[in-house]
Amino acid sequence: MTEEPFETSPSASAAQQRIAAAVAAILTGIGEQPEREGLRDTPARVARMYGELTAGYHTDPVALINDAIFTVDYDQMVLVRDIDFFSLCEHHMLPFFGRAHVAYVPNGKVIGLSKISRIVEMFARRLQVQERLTVQIADFLAEAIGPKGVGVVVEGTHLCSVMRGVKQANARMVTSALLGRFKSDPRTRAEFMDHLSRPHD
Ligand SMILES: [Zn+2]
Repeated sequence: MTEEPFETSPSASAAQQRIAAAVAAILTGIGEQPEREGLRDTPARVARMYGELTAGYHTDPVALINDAIFTVDYDQMVLVRDIDFFSLCEHHMLPFFGRAHVAYVPNGKVIGLSKISRIVEMFARRLQVQERLTVQIADFLAEAIGPKGVGVVVEGTHLCSVMRGVKQANARMVTSALLGRFKSDPRTRAEFMDHLSRPHD
């Protein structure tokens, strides 16, 4: 059988073609007709979309940060709150999304604030579990600038739970990763949590 129920553009990569073929198979599997007008371009469109949603696999982490690390004489906590993120859970390939809060205490080096959002995005745009996303952000920052400590808190809503009506006390999941002083010093940890509990401006 050589029937091709979907079309990809000639410029589509081999990876995109594989994804498009798989999406067409899903459409057939759920009882749809991939050839009908509304779905005709869906496999190719989904294939392109996965390229965006999983772009983090192809981001060069060194290039991402290497021009944005600065030497400073500052040893107070740096906190970036409310970084929006969108990811895909690796168990269902459905979105989970929410906010990340990232803090560190410098040890002679700081990193540009916008880069912290980019780091979150790099790890979010992959198939993930929220716990690993949280730890990867913290570990990466720790390695990049060798701070006295790192604290990361991620709050996420998981569509695989919400859409399917999975019974949970709270649909929002909170994970944290605490390194160095954030782990060993209760005052640092308390300062971090206090910042996070403050209402928005
Ligand atoms: Zn899931």
